[in-house]
Amino acid sequence: MFDAGTGMFRARQRLKRPHLDILLSHAHLDHIVGLSFVLGWRELNGLESIHVYGEAAKLASIRENVFSSHIFPIMPPIQWRELPAEYSPFTLHCGAKVRWWGQTHPGGSVGYRLDYGEHSLAYVTDTTARNTDPYLSQLKHVQLLIHECNFDDSQQKMAELTGHSCLSDVLDRVRDCSVRKLALVHTNPYGNIHEPIQLPEAIVGNGKVVVPYDLDELEF
Ligand SMILES: [Zn+2]
Ligand SMILES: [Zn+2]
Repeated sequence: MFDAGTGMFRARQRLKRPHLDILLSHAHLDHIVGLSFVLGWRELNGLESIHVYGEAAKLASIRENVFSSHIFPIMPPIQWRELPAEYSPFTLHCGAKVRWWGQTHPGGSVGYRLDYGEHSLAYVTDTTARNTDPYLSQLKHVQLLIHECNFDDSQQKMAELTGHSCLSDVLDRVRDCSVRKLALVHTNPYGNIHEPIQLPEAIVGNGKVVVPYDLDELEF
């Protein structure tokens, strides 16, 4: 699982294995509030272990602040896993190989690429998409790229200011990386919820770019 936001309560119905790995991009509240929801998942869903990966400072901050007894009554049964060195591959419980890298965002965020056999996907959120970003080689030929697109193109300045991305910038970098499918997520919650990003007709038509809803399943 990537991040643990407000939609995390829906994830319980999708659990299929006794072990859950959660890879955190960073510790802003919209990415971690769902960690508190896992309390009870072991008893109710037969989960035997939950590992949460992230940068050391972010994990420490979550433990101290979110799971302070003033905010949440008890610590859920989470085992915290600090990320190894940037770009160093590590292996998840399921056998998938993971790489991560740092991104531009207030307080910092990280992106991930997972490879499992011939399958690959990458998760890039909370960053300003730039074609000069050093990690772009990690996205080359990835089958599914899950990328944030918080703003449409009318809000480019706001994107820069808040460390987020606009549609054109995301599409530019995706073109260069030869991605097979692009899922645009982390759209502006204050925008039009039915059409959060004004995708041009030509792009909608080719089926390579989607704006998924919660619980959607994607083929790629
Ligand atoms: Zn953020
Ligand atoms: Zn966010």
